[in-house]
Amino acid sequence: MKKTILIVEDEPKNLKLVKDLMVIFEYNTMEARTGAEAIKILENNYKTIDLVLMDIQMPVMDGLTAVQILKENEQIKHIPIIALTALAMKDDKEKFINAGFDDYIKKPIDIREFKKVVSDYLERRISI
Ligand code: MN
Repeated sequence: MKKTILIVEDEPKNLKLVKDLMVIFEYNTMEARTGAEAIKILENNYKTIDLVLMDIQMPVMDGLTAVQILKENEQIKHIPIIALTALAMKDDKEKFINAGFDDYIKKPIDIREFKKVVSDYLERRISI
């Protein structure tokens, strides 16, 4: 069965790029444009979403706030959430992990690295 990935990204061009890649990799996709929208979608679809790719800077609610709320939700917290970010200094990585992200991927996206990180997390996931 195809895995389902929730893409959380406010920038239409970035959203399209990530979505196109996920389709090429043969994953199903869902979309959200703010952290608040992502929370709503995950609350209603936590049984079908296998992985979340989340931008940091978004209107209404940013990724750092959203991930903290999601990782406190018993039904959602096992779903890996990977930050998509242009910031990629060593300190930033710690900041993302401390906030609750499982990992991060740098923007602009390196397609090969992106594919590897996503497939590693999907294979690692324990089915419940
Ligand atoms: Mn953004």
